[in-house]
Amino acid sequence: MLYNLSQKIRNYHPDKEQLDKINSLKPSNQPDYDETELIVIPFAASNNLIHSSLGTWSIKTLEAITASYQYGGQDLMLDHQWEDSTKTIGIVFDAEMWDITPNDNFLDYLLRKSPNIEWDKKILNEQGYQQVTLFGAVEVSHFINSEFRYGRKTDVSIGGFGKMRYLCPLCSTNGKQVEFTDEECPHYMPTQWNLAYASEKELQAFAPYYIRDGWDFSAELSMVFEGNCVQARVIDERFLQMLSI
Ligand SMILES: [Zn+2]
Repeated sequence: MLYNLSQKIRNYHPDKEQLDKINSLKPSNQPDYDETELIVIPFAASNNLIHSSLGTWSIKTLEAITASYQYGGQDLMLDHQWEDSTKTIGIVFDAEMWDITPNDNFLDYLLRKSPNIEWDKKILNEQGYQQVTLFGAVEVSHFINSEFRYGRKTDVSIGGFGKMRYLCPLCSTNGKQVEFTDEECPHYMPTQWNLAYASEKELQAFAPYYIRDGWDFSAELSMVFEGNCVQARVIDERFLQMLSI
């Protein structure tokens, strides 16, 4: 799948297919956009690795997140400021789920900010690297283009609604889904608060991370200073070089 993206991932203006999708999302009484009016920004929006909160997404949930963004038209905004509609800077119009078997260089890149390298490596061995890749569009004249071009806006974070279930990775094996609240799970969920108040003995019973399962729909993608998914950001040239794209 990746090989077909070599051109699309470097598109500055939208190509014909992208422009058609963006035009389908405009107000119905507005004239069509011209490709030179818009720039496209590619984002590594989320993935299956351990976030700074010590949570991961289940693969099923990553697929649901991708499918929801594929519908298109979600806000591209600043800092998840849902109470302030002036913080919207563009739209998200397309999504792809990438399935990558990392080479050594890419593995180093992915694990650089990992909160748990040993367990992230296990995840990569079992699942490969699964990434939700999003495409945003912004008008050329918008100030945010300068922010993107000169690297003042890089990190991103997804926003949406879901009824979460919290699964234990130690007990959820062989296709089983076991929540921390299930009787058969003897482990504690590793949140910052739980960890902070645990005794030395209790710390032995903590799972290394937790799996979040459940996503209803994607509402927005935000530019943030540092996201919960530590690898989430604007896709840069180095990222593509490591994948030899
Ligand atoms: Zn367990």
